[in-house]
Amino acid sequence: MKKVVKFGGSSLSGPKQFEKVKHIISLDKDRRYVVPSAPGKRDDRDNKVTDLLYKAYSLASGDQDFSKVFSEIEGRFNEIIAGLGLKVSLKEEFNTIKKNFSRKIGEDYAASRGEYLNGILLADYLGYRFVDAAEVIFFREDGSFDSARTYDAVYERLKDIERAVIPGFYGSYPDGSIKTFSRGGSDITGSIVARSVKADVYENWTDVSGFFVADPRIITDPENIEMITYTELRELAYMGASVLHEDAIFPVRREGIPINIKNTNKPEDKGSWIVQSTGQKSRFIITGIAGKKGFCSVNIEKDKMNSEVGFGRKVLQAFEDNDISFEHMPSGIDTMTIIVHQDEFIEKEQSVVSEINRMTHPDSIDIESDLALIAVVGRGMKAAKGTSGRIFSALAHANVNVKMIDQGSSELNIIIGVKNEDFENAIRAIYNIFVIAQL
Ligand code: ASP
Repeated sequence: MKKVVKFGGSSLSGPKQFEKVKHIISLDKDRRYVVPSAPGKRDDRDNKVTDLLYKAYSLASGDQDFSKVFSEIEGRFNEIIAGLGLKVSLKEEFNTIKKNFSRKIGEDYAASRGEYLNGILLADYLGYRFVDAAEVIFFREDGSFDSARTYDAVYERLKDIERAVIPGFYGSYPDGSIKTFSRGGSDITGSIVARSVKADVYENWTDVSGFFVADPRIITDPENIEMITYTELRELAYMGASVLHEDAIFPVRREGIPINIKNTNKPEDKGSWIVQSTGQKSRFIITGIAGKKGFCSVNIEKDKMNSEVGFGRKVLQAFEDNDISFEHMPSGIDTMTIIVHQDEFIEKEQSVVSEINRMTHPDSIDIESDLALIAVVGRGMKAAKGTSGRIFSALAHANVNVKMIDQGSSELNIIIGVKNEDFENAIRAIYNIFVIAQL
């Protein structure tokens, strides 16, 4: 068996956390390839090293003194070295990085140094080989990820190395300069390494015991999701559930490598499994609920809209011409509604409306803002009768006015639009009916 294990920033924020990580790795000899993040926050008031690096580099690129922020960064790594009694010194590395900052080498390089340095320390502490991600993770000149070249390179490099640490978050352009993924991107690196070495499992260690059925900021002590499919997770992540980087499922998904989200601070918890498909029924009919505020609906009415060929295309053209993507598009016989992100739409509102008017001559266009969308997701919904009925009766009892309903053709999700101010209440009502009532 081969496992790739990724540890997030809070799992490697200081010497105590490093000790937990080493212990976890030592419990399972299959944990052969380790992908670390940069040191994260040690407590709520602390800084992430990545944020400090961005800060220092922004000073450097404005020709300002960055030495104070940089010493703070050095202090974070030196604390780990001292706390673990490591022999390794990062002095030379710090000097090189400072020089590169002064010659304004690039923001991505700067941000990536947290993972790079943490990788050196972790490799030393574990007695694993250090493999610089810049040598095996590749981007094309246009900034897109070069998957084929990367999977080959990682495979070739690791095939004769029994145990290695590969820092997360970055890779390189064809000219060798550094490029990072978006924030939280070490999750993607872990997934790439898992795919390249054909791992049996990709373990992603963080500071929560996996996914919750609903956001703990809204539901106190929500139930844990034990097993979720990649597709269900896509729906929930898109709607705001964030434990894992949204793009981290793609590399492993094609190979069917399961991801296990685990808690470094509570390793005995089962965590959540993300799998391709499962015959295992979820504990509840629904797998999860997630949502976001800040949407607008553009409601268009025209008599006999249904018989006018090309009406929908013309409406969507108005959005496309203004470079606005739409989220949902429920329609009736003489009505059509387009749901968009409020902040993207608001500044182009008048231009979109006038184009719709010009192209389609509707009877009316009415815009409603401050809407929230809630996704109720679950592979179990397909087989269960009356799911939507239960959702709507729960919402009616909670006095929530439902503005929109959209059931995906996969029957995997139901999207509900409510006013922003009803958002939390609606989620509580849905959680209560499907989870609390079933316990
Ligand atoms: N350290 C980077 C960040 O803070 C990447 C990561 O942690 O995955 O975004």
